[in-house]
Amino acid sequence: MKNIYTFENEPFVNFKNPKNKTEIEAQLNDVQSKLGKQYPLVINGERIKTERVIESLNPGKKDEVVGYVSAAGTKEAERALNVASETFKTWSKVPAKERVHYLFEASRIMRERKHEFTAWMVFESGKNWLEADADTAEAIDFMEYYARQMLDLANPEPLIQINPNVDPDMYRPLPAEDNKLEYIPLGVGVVIPPWNFPLAILAGTVTSAIVTGNTVILKPSELTSVIGYKFVELMEEVGLPKGVLNFLPGYGSEIGDYLVDSPKTRFISFTGSRATGTRIYERAAKVQPGQRWLKTVVAEMGGKDGVVVDETADLDQAAKDIVSSAFGFQGQKCSAGSRAIIVESVYDEVAAKVVDEAKKLVMGPGKDNFEMGPVSDQKSFDKVMGYIEVGKKEAELLLGGEAGSDEGYYIEPTIFGNVVETDRIFQEEIFGPVLGLTKAKDYKDAIRQYNNTEYGLTGAFHSTVEERIEEALEDMQCGNLYINKKCTGALVGVHPFGGYNMSGTDSKAGGPDYLLYFTQPKMKTRKLSNLS
Ligand code: NAD
Repeated sequence: MKNIYTFENEPFVNFKNPKNKTEIEAQLNDVQSKLGKQYPLVINGERIKTERVIESLNPGKKDEVVGYVSAAGTKEAERALNVASETFKTWSKVPAKERVHYLFEASRIMRERKHEFTAWMVFESGKNWLEADADTAEAIDFMEYYARQMLDLANPEPLIQINPNVDPDMYRPLPAEDNKLEYIPLGVGVVIPPWNFPLAILAGTVTSAIVTGNTVILKPSELTSVIGYKFVELMEEVGLPKGVLNFLPGYGSEIGDYLVDSPKTRFISFTGSRATGTRIYERAAKVQPGQRWLKTVVAEMGGKDGVVVDETADLDQAAKDIVSSAFGFQGQKCSAGSRAIIVESVYDEVAAKVVDEAKKLVMGPGKDNFEMGPVSDQKSFDKVMGYIEVGKKEAELLLGGEAGSDEGYYIEPTIFGNVVETDRIFQEEIFGPVLGLTKAKDYKDAIRQYNNTEYGLTGAFHSTVEERIEEALEDMQCGNLYINKKCTGALVGVHPFGGYNMSGTDSKAGGPDYLLYFTQPKMKTRKLSNLS
């Protein structure tokens, strides 16, 4: 049996259990007592403090500094590139069995200390307990899954053998051979994760690159570099050799291009916005002086995801799924369902149910486990509020539309009705708690409108008619399609995740072929007999 089939998802913690509640509260208090510390770069195991620092803030409490993180410039970036290039010479020769050991150990320790990682995310990203715990669970899953996948990749299926039984009178026999197809590492990878899954995506993109034998420069998001540092510390704790993982926080606008352009960079594993992803894709395509390869780019980008509802659907369930897709983690998931396209005969009924459901959401700090928390920062706050103003002109405001407490970056869950498919709020990724409801003539028109986007990440279709479900499965153009469910919440291994078109380069994180992106196949043929 393949190793991958022994994988099981990490269960989510039930915080209604008093023991779990007490434990997370204790960890939150502990983390709060550790806020405001300094965090250096880590290059070749060496701690480097820079003069300039990034102030990482709690988005739910703007005056609370989570940590001061050193910000690398191009000098430090070059140093990290040199270290990663040099370390690649030894790390790429370490057997897969030894490489996977570091992932299994890291996941074991993270599982033991999961509330600690969860608590750091609550402070640094504004997630509530459930969202942060799911993030930690996903990080554990990625490490467990990719370690197993690497064991299988190191032991690939046998190739076709040369037929030894040809009639030598009629045909020329070929010599016997030993043939092996091996997946070898690429080189130095620049890993650039976003802030919205500050542990899961960071851990998944780092460990998939490392376990396949590459060395990594990790440039975390400016907004969540402290949790990035915590992960790097964990990898040091499990004994990962120095120089394999280099921690290079800094501003994307200052060191991003430098890292992407460098002839020493072999691949870029990016997750973030469409604008940054397409910039990286374009720059990486240019062969620089001294560069000896074509760079690989794996880019997971934005979405304009949506839920489609026909008149036969369970409308109560559909409304609940629309609300959790739109407002889970304040709509700041790449999979967030910011559009609901509803067949007109049930539009009014569904709209009323959606508004009622969303009214139940209470807003407040992640630390106190409110359903709705803040958006990530001032920039995001301004952008989302800007879209709300656009929405007020384009459509009909049904709920919210205002900022919440200015202690943090709070925005009310906001719903617009009668959004049409040419509206900006229908077409552009908002990445905040804003949902648009759109009427469709019938289910076919609803699917057509759903597809009227340049993105293609997630979607959901609600109906009870089997033929329509089959049609939706065939025709809705997205990487992750859910039937009679919400359009968020992918599980590693169960729902390999990634989008098409302007949502990304078609890879599937947490899927059976993900590691192949970070390897190159090498065919090894050894002649065994003396036939010529
Ligand atoms: P972003 O593009 O602003 O930043 C992502 C990362 O890119 C950060 O680390 C940033 O510092 C870095 N960066 C910025 N400029 C750069 C440059 N010129 N060169 C190299 N790196 C640079 O995105 P964000 O706001 O952090 O994340 C939100 C976006 O991520 C949303 O669009 C969301 O849909 C998307 N996302 C996609 C997925 C997915 O799996 N498809 C998952 C999570 C988030």
